[in-house]
Parts: sequence; C-alpha cells; structure tokens
Amino acid sequence: MKLYNTMTRKKEEFVPLEEGKVKMYVCGPTVYNFIHIGNARPMIVFDTVRRYFEYKGYEVNFVSNFTDVDDKIIKKALEEGVTADEIASRYIAECKKDMESLNIKPATANPLAAQEIDGMIQMIQELIDKGHAYEKNGTVYFRTRSFEEYGKLSHKNLDDLQSGGRELLVSGQDEKEDPLDFVLWKPKKDGEPFWDSPWSKGRPGWHIECSEMSRKYLGEQIDIHAGGEDLIFPHHENEIAQSEACNGKEFARYWMHNGFLNIDNKKMSKSLGNFRTVREIGEKYDLQVFRFFMLSAHYRSPLNFSAELMEAAKNSLERITNAVDHLKHLMETARTEEMTEAEKEQADKTAEFVKDFENAMEDDFNTADAITAIFELVKFANTTADGNSSKEYAKTLFDLIVRLGDILGLILDRKEEMLDADIEALIEERTRARKEKNFQRADEIRDELLKKGIELKDTREGVQWKRV
Ligand code: AMP
Ligand code: ZN
Repeated sequence: MKLYNTMTRKKEEFVPLEEGKVKMYVCGPTVYNFIHIGNARPMIVFDTVRRYFEYKGYEVNFVSNFTDVDDKIIKKALEEGVTADEIASRYIAECKKDMESLNIKPATANPLAAQEIDGMIQMIQELIDKGHAYEKNGTVYFRTRSFEEYGKLSHKNLDDLQSGGRELLVSGQDEKEDPLDFVLWKPKKDGEPFWDSPWSKGRPGWHIECSEMSRKYLGEQIDIHAGGEDLIFPHHENEIAQSEACNGKEFARYWMHNGFLNIDNKKMSKSLGNFRTVREIGEKYDLQVFRFFMLSAHYRSPLNFSAELMEAAKNSLERITNAVDHLKHLMETARTEEMTEAEKEQADKTAEFVKDFENAMEDDFNTADAITAIFELVKFANTTADGNSSKEYAKTLFDLIVRLGDILGLILDRKEEMLDADIEALIEERTRARKEKNFQRADEIRDELLKKGIELKDTREGVQWKRV
C-alpha cells in the first residue's frame, strides 16, 4: 500500500511500526461552533483511510482530539456569558452528532485538551530540563533553533523563516530569545480559564496539546499523523519539534494532509458569507451524498463545493443505490436458490472489479478511481442480473457492492427506515382493530412492524414502541 508522505514529498510503501497494527492521530476541530463542511473533509478522508486499513486486516488505533482550550472558545464564552467549558461541551456533542450522520466511525479515543493539562505540564518540564524550552515572566517558549531539523516537514529553511519571522510572533516578542521561538505555556488573562503550573497560572499553547495527547494515547512513535494542509505549518512542524526534542525519536512515520474545500471556487469564510455548516447541508441533502461527493475527488486535491456538484453527486450515488435496491428485489423474487454454472463463471469475473478497487485505494487512497471501480461493478450487475437470476447470484453481487461501499463509509443497503408518524398511524390502526375484535388485523400490524424493526409493547399506559 502506497501513501503520499508530506515529509518526503513522495508516495511511499506503508510499513507499520508493529505488524498488523496502525497507530493514527488526526488533529480534530476546535469546538466553538457547529463544524463547517471544510472540517468534515479530514474527518471523512481519514475515516476512509482507517476503514481501508481495517478491511486489509489491520487493527487501527485511531485517536482524534477535540481542541477545547483555545482563544476562539474563550471569546465565544465571553460573548455568551457562559464558561469555556460549556461552549466546548455543547459543540463537542453537536460535532459527534454530525460525525454520526456522516457515518464516521467513533475514534478509539477522543481526548480533550482540558483533561490532559498535567501531561502537558510534564512534557513542557521535560523540554525545559533538556534545554529545548525556557521560561520568561510566566511564559514558556520552545527554543526553536535547539531543534536542528526544524522545518523538515514544511520544507522551510530557518533563515528564511527568520526574515519572515514577524508573522510567527505569537506574543511577548521582546522577551523571546529568538523570534522563531513559540509558546508552550502562557499566563492567563482576566476571565480566561487557567490551570496551576510551575511557571504561572495559565494554559498550554495549542501545539503542545497534540504532542502530549498523541504520546499519551499512542506512544512516543506513531505510524500516521494527519490533518488539513493548513496544519503543516506551523502546527505540525511545531508538534514534531516538541515531540522529537522531548522523546528523542522520530514522531510519526507518515504525514498525511488533505487539500482544502472551497465554495463556488472561493475560500470559505464567515466574512464572505459563504460559510456552510454540516448541519445546514444535512437539511438539504442526505449526508451520504455529501460523503460521496467528498470522496469523488482525490483527498490531496483542492475540492470545490457547489449546488450543481452536489446534485451530480446525488444522481451518481443513486445509480449505485438503485442497482443495490434492484438486486435486493431480485433476491426476494428469485425462483431459484443456487447459482448455475454459468452464473458461477460470471460471479468469478467480479474479482476484477475488486482488484481495481483495491489498486486504486492502495495508490495513495485514490477514492475517485475506487468509485469508478464500483460503477463498473454496478454496470456488470445491471447487465448480468435479471428476473431469471438465482437468489445466490443476486446476493453475491449485492453483498459485494455493499461491502465495497462500506469501505468508503457509504451505506448502500438502505434499510427502509419508518418515520415515527407512520409507526404511530399503524399503532392507532391496530388499537382500533383490537377494539373491533379484529385480532387478525391487529396481529398482522404487529408482525409487519416487527419486520421493519419496530417492537411493540402493550402496557397499562398504552402501547409503547422501540426500534430493535
Ligand atoms: P480547526 O477547527 O480550524 O482546527 O480545523 C479542524 C480540521 O479541519 C483541521 O484538520 C483543518 O485543517 C481542517 N480544515 C479546516 N478548514 C478546512 C477546509 N476549508 N477544507 C479542508 N479542511 C479544512
Ligand atoms: Zn494537532
């Protein structure tokens, strides 16, 4: 399996640190609002990477944090007159809802920065002890030039950075030994959340949060560290400096970065008024369509979002789901159970499509080509399965398409979800039937609902139902 490593700027063969295992850390969102559709890109992309590794039999330890200690959260808390904690908890809960709608598998661990302050203090202390950090007036800075390989990920040269150093200054520029030094710990300002530390009452810098959480949940060395391309510099560059200076070993073997999502060919931003949350998109479309749209482009390419492109994605996805529905129908109506010899030969041909799918995924997760392989399989199914097919043949094709879809996180086997209102209406009809002593109809309704995954319970307070 080959993946593009930002560090070497090459596609490299994936070799895990430990056989059969993948340790992955993906920088998560800063939780001060509903997540926007750009934030969903790394979530969808790296969930798909994880799913493919799992399909190949790897055990994936997938850690993704929530940044809940941050200036933007504090600002929002002050605006609303609530605590930063309240803002963070609210938007973490909302983010998890969106992730579920996007069919993103829950991470092995979702650490929260605010819960990990002790470990961060410990790591900062280790950096001070090793001469890589220093304290001035309660602020602790990383001594950037003490880490000789600084710039290796973003391919920046220290002296060029020095001349462009102005934008790198975070705070207290005069007290720094060098303009390139960045903050590990900063003293609190009025109204801000803070923690005790050996240097001041204050809070950690953003970069140390990820270095520490990655080390705590995955160990000093990991296989893959990932995030959006805007994180390459300074965030990931600084994470590398901190982790490698502290632990004395290579931090991550592979660095993966997704390209940016634009809207109508413009950068998405609040000031341009083209900012879209996942929640808003979910009101207009099934979020499966959005996930499909995301994966129709290569993850490293820039991706443009527009209403027309979403319509096109919707139609394409429907071609697949229609084929799956048709196969399901054939499975139910087929006159013969087992495959004929001719069908067995046809079924063997599907291995080609699986190979194409895998080859695409193993070439740096080319999901666009993997989707093309699914389309080829759909075409094959549409031309070879019909009313005369056996149940087994229809099921073989059905299972295969659903399985490949699942690797991309697409739910193709649409279980007919009943709406609450339809369930209630049937329950009312059943109650009427029972009053009229039409027990046969009442039982029919009960069985019909059970088939659709709804279980009824007759209680003294009336009929209760639940999805099973
Ligand atoms: P943030 O909440 O800004 O820390 O971002 C969380 C994740 O979303 C990071 O991996 C960012 O790189 C990524 N991200 C933010 N905006 C976009 C965008 N427009 N397109 C793709 N990824 C983005
Ligand atoms: Zn991070």
